[in-house]
Amino acid sequence: MLKKTVSQLQPYVPETPLPELEKQLGLASVVRLSANENPFGTSPKVQQALQNWDFSNSHYYPDGDAAALRQAVADYVKVAPERLLFGNGLDEVIELVSRTFLETGDEVLELGPTFSEYKLHAQIEDTIVHDVAVQADGIADLTALAAAITPKTKLIWLCNPNNPTGTAVPQTEIAKFMAQVPRTVLVLIDEAYIDFVDKLATYTALPLLDQYDNLMVLRTFSKAYGLANFRVGYAVMPPKLAPSLQSVRLPYNLSAIAQLAAQAALADQAFLQATVIRVRQARQQWECFLQQHGFTFYHSQANFTFFQAPHALKLADYLLHNGFIVRTGLRPDWLRITFGTAEQNEKLQQLILAFYEK
Ligand SMILES: *Cc1c(COP(=O)(O)O)cnc(C)c1O
Repeated sequence: MLKKTVSQLQPYVPETPLPELEKQLGLASVVRLSANENPFGTSPKVQQALQNWDFSNSHYYPDGDAAALRQAVADYVKVAPERLLFGNGLDEVIELVSRTFLETGDEVLELGPTFSEYKLHAQIEDTIVHDVAVQADGIADLTALAAAITPKTKLIWLCNPNNPTGTAVPQTEIAKFMAQVPRTVLVLIDEAYIDFVDKLATYTALPLLDQYDNLMVLRTFSKAYGLANFRVGYAVMPPKLAPSLQSVRLPYNLSAIAQLAAQAALADQAFLQATVIRVRQARQQWECFLQQHGFTFYHSQANFTFFQAPHALKLADYLLHNGFIVRTGLRPDWLRITFGTAEQNEKLQQLILAFYEK
């Protein structure tokens, strides 16, 4: 009865809600540093905007075009509004892209390791996914990625900075890579973490969009803007592909509340900048810690670190019982930890040292 590709899938195991976990563990508070959420919360301007939302609109469908948000994002990224595709989280954009372009037997290229959603949707669409291993320093190997292209290659996912390695490739490298990619292959640059890089202009692929009609840039409000709960992500599309993607998108995929929240979050660039500054400080502080204690790690440009931790599963369990959830299972004996507040980071680092001293 099931589609063959679906019968082989395992359901995504959602994170246990924090209050439930706290009860199970008998802890007053548990901090989640496993999902790359913003430890500094959300702009208070978002809360204000939602308080002003007119509840009497509840029985109407939202604006299916997200016109106000569309214009605001278009101004922000400096593209024509009709080139934007909004999704219920960037997750939905990834699904939409896969649904729109992939057919049985197509090939998809991605980094190894990278964000798991690309492969999930590629598999549902009955395609073959090739993981191109990152280099020893964790950075994407764009030479190998270009070399892996075959006549069957349809999509290439390039997560930049990459989740979970945290490393980023500069725009100049992406430009060289694009020059080698046939125009029949669509390249998707997932910039979910782009706000955290040391110098945005050095890393974002947005300026390359004018030159390439086989390039899309994807972003989300879930990470630096602290809006994960509202589910808003978007893609900047090549003009010729925009109508097709819009026709696959569900008509009311973003609630009015989500649209309003994203608009208010985008308008508060001061909050974004404050978050970014604190994340960069945390990043430096974590790197010093990892270096000082001899851990192998990659140089992150994101809001998390990925490092080799002997007995990672035991360590993660110890941290959990001491109130911190971290991400395991991305590579044997490596952990991914989202940067928390300065206080959380310090406590966590003390726990890590205590674990290894035992
Ligand atoms: C978190 C994440 C997303 C998904 O973001 P949502 O907008 O919350 O769906 C997409 N890509 C990468 C690389 C991520 O880490």
